[in-house]
Amino acid sequence: MERKIPYKIYLSESEMPKYWYNLRADMVNKPAPLLDPETKKPLSAKELSKVFCDELVKQELDETTPYFEIPEEIRDFYKMYRPSPLIRAYCLEEKLQTPAKIYYKFEGNNTSGSHKLNSAIAQAYYAKKQGLKGVTTETGAGQWGTALSMACAYFGLDCKVFMVKCSYEQKPFRREVMRTYGASVTPSPSSLTKVGQKILELHPGTTGSLGCAISEAVETATNLNGYRYVLGSVLNQVTLHQSVIGLETKTALEKYGEKADIIIGCAGGGSNLGGLIAPFMGEKIKGEKDYRFIAVEPSSCPSLTRGKYAYDYCDTGMICPLTKMYTLGSGYIPAATHAGGLRYHGMNSVVSQLYADGLMEAVSVKQTEVFEAAEYFARIEGILPAPESSHAIKVAIDEALKCKESGESKTIVFGLTGTGYFDMYAYEKFHDGKMDDYIPTDAEIENALSKLPNV
Ligand SMILES: *Cc1c(COP(=O)(O)O)cnc(C)c1O
Repeated sequence: MERKIPYKIYLSESEMPKYWYNLRADMVNKPAPLLDPETKKPLSAKELSKVFCDELVKQELDETTPYFEIPEEIRDFYKMYRPSPLIRAYCLEEKLQTPAKIYYKFEGNNTSGSHKLNSAIAQAYYAKKQGLKGVTTETGAGQWGTALSMACAYFGLDCKVFMVKCSYEQKPFRREVMRTYGASVTPSPSSLTKVGQKILELHPGTTGSLGCAISEAVETATNLNGYRYVLGSVLNQVTLHQSVIGLETKTALEKYGEKADIIIGCAGGGSNLGGLIAPFMGEKIKGEKDYRFIAVEPSSCPSLTRGKYAYDYCDTGMICPLTKMYTLGSGYIPAATHAGGLRYHGMNSVVSQLYADGLMEAVSVKQTEVFEAAEYFARIEGILPAPESSHAIKVAIDEALKCKESGESKTIVFGLTGTGYFDMYAYEKFHDGKMDDYIPTDAEIENALSKLPNV
């Protein structure tokens, strides 16, 4: 059928954003400052720059500059895999028999398989520009480690990845992709760091955790000359870089005279969601246009819907800055049977403040519903989605079905953050009927929240 709006809207290179958008500059209530975990005082740029790259510290702390120019070197790298397509889900609309128009922004068309490359390349660029030798980081499922390895290879930086031990063993292909790009990958906890040695002594045979891998990566960066630590989510610099997703989406919609009514994103640490909604939220805050924003999180890790808005540690080692955010407590660990990703206990501080101010909604969904939606989507739209992204698919379908009932033709836009090729163990569990829906009890959440720091 001839259709006025193409199935895939691609921007030309000249239409790609030249600036990242810093939503904080337009927020009325700014997110609370980062605090030193020991003194509980706001952290200065100087203190932060012991751990993070100088330029990234500036971006992290800046709440007045609305636009940051994207350096040409980064734009050139972006051109190798961006713009990402904004896809009109005609086939899904037809299948659902909904009057809603559904669009999704697909970020999985690069080798790392997710949106994380958008920030990885920026962080590697600033590390290189500062004359550093390399960076350290942690990775859980492996998407961030892969993206960072690619970015470091491009700029000739050394990349040391601490990978949560159980993923290291269960996802050998992820590990080999990282090594292909020249990264060294260490299963965490390891005997290379003091933190790792201590944890191994206390819990021999542990399969590791993200919080422990973060502590190992930070310790390594601060002990090595010419190294800094980098992080793929949660921080404001990351949502800033991810605004490229929202800016491209906005330009693509405007090109065809479309206006979104509902914008949906999955929420782990909040970076893709924060980036996707940024320019639209800016308009909403300024009273120019109105939108509904929906964050979708797993019911086994419900930071926004059941967590508390408070200062908390970002890592289990309690060495990273304290952040005011919606949190389940840094000791909260989602059930081992949870396979859908988005396992982080906290949330980006901008996203948290927007939610606290009632500018955004949040819902939690069960993992079996998420995989049902993922499979349904794959069979209709062809793309095999990452479990994380499928949280957004689930809610987009729900909203489209509400339109079917009410007869309203709303325009729904959601972020499809990545592909699911490395998550076939999770799909296998789903197909074999071995997936359950663990929902934490109030007592479990209260217990984790009782260990919040006193600020
Ligand atoms: C890391 C990841 C997420 C979650 O991270 P956010 O910071 O919340 O965006 C979502 N989808 C995919 C594919 C990821 O790799």
